[in-house]
Amino acid sequence: MDFNLSKEQRDIVRAAREFAQGEFPDRAAEFDRNETFDLELWKTACELGFVGVFIDEKYGGAGLGFLEHCLITEEFWAVEPGIGQAILSTTFGSELLSLFGSEEQKQEVLPQLVSGQAIMATGITEPDAGSDVTQATTTAVKDGDSWVINGAKMFTTNGNLAKYVLLFCLTDPDNPSRHERHSFILVPTDTPGYESTKIYGKMGIRASDTAELTLNNLQVPLSNLVGEQGRGFHQLMAFFNRTRLHICAQAVGLARGAMEEAIRHAKARRQFGATLASFQVTQFKIAEMATWIRAARNLYYEAAWSVDQGKIDHALIAMAKWFSAEMAVRCADEALQLHGGYGYIDEYKVQRLYRDAKILEIYEGTKEMEKTIISRTLLG
Ligand SMILES: Cc1cc2nc3c(=O)[nH]c(=O)nc-3n(C[C@H](O)[C@H](O)[C@H](O)COP(=O)(O)OP(=O)(O)OC[C@H]3O[C@@H](n4cnc5c(N)ncnc54)[C@H](O)[C@@H]3O)c2cc1C
Repeated sequence: MDFNLSKEQRDIVRAAREFAQGEFPDRAAEFDRNETFDLELWKTACELGFVGVFIDEKYGGAGLGFLEHCLITEEFWAVEPGIGQAILSTTFGSELLSLFGSEEQKQEVLPQLVSGQAIMATGITEPDAGSDVTQATTTAVKDGDSWVINGAKMFTTNGNLAKYVLLFCLTDPDNPSRHERHSFILVPTDTPGYESTKIYGKMGIRASDTAELTLNNLQVPLSNLVGEQGRGFHQLMAFFNRTRLHICAQAVGLARGAMEEAIRHAKARRQFGATLASFQVTQFKIAEMATWIRAARNLYYEAAWSVDQGKIDHALIAMAKWFSAEMAVRCADEALQLHGGYGYIDEYKVQRLYRDAKILEIYEGTKEMEKTIISRTLLG
């Protein structure tokens, strides 16, 4: 398999890198400290065509593949993970809507995401339903021409900023299969009954908005159901098979950023009359990081390429997600260790990377869940 990037793909990488290097570094520490983000930066990224490149041209996107979205993600995360997340998570849910939404839903929502007019969020996790999403109890009950939604969602990225939220709701509680009980419903957040509360105090990716949602007798038309009733769990798995690739790209980008910080510091810092870079233990650390990064990148390129060819390999995607996330955490740890005490102070970027990395092993399927998918494929 040939993973040489085309000229167009290399141009995308260069443009994304230049944008991130030019815009992110001066703002990163402030966004991280204050848990804020400048939405103008997101709008500029939309204008420059970095947001939603995988969305069909018919809906204003570039009609490119997931690989191209991953390439942009990797460059943004290599410079500043928090800002990369704040900008690129604004389309979270568009993958599901593109696959299963009605023509009307797609025409209403997708063009706004690409042009910087709207942000989308997806609420699946609940206070008592995390890894086991089939336990989600937010209900959607039919009442005349409407769905009436009641419940709560936890950790919804962009829940305070979104114009639209896809909610994973219990619509068929009596179905004997727990995989046929839920449905996705598209909810405009200005609907009465939608309430969001910002979650402060995250360990990392603090420029990115995270919310707790309360849904209180919220009513939307029956036509806001996404796809077929009761198929939400299966839609979610198809969605994750795409979005987990974004996480792999986030991980590889972050690890690259951490390695670059490590190299810079190792060449500058002198102890025992020599630079840290002259010690073999340092050289081995850099060699290991470079190898892990390359291995993770090849794994996710293969997975993204397969998805873009219409071939879904669940185990391969799970391998890429688990491996790249753990690899990023390890690289950030080694990079901080190389900085010694300075790495522990917030003046140094490496401590932010160390904090930002951990989420990669948690969201969109914990590493334990990814290993469960891989081992089930092998063991049956
Ligand atoms: C910053 C942030 C952003 C997020 N964004 C979103 C979002 O936009 N939308 C959304 O819906 N959710 C979002 N999430 C939620 C995230 O996807 C969940 O936190 C994650 O799926 C884990 O669920 P949980 O936190 O309830 O942990 P739990 O499911 O309670 O798991 C706790 C631990 O137990 C382990 N565990 C659980 N079950 C098993 C098992 N069977 N075998 C072995 N180990 C097991 C897990 O791997 C984990 O280590 C976000 C979370 C964070 C922190």
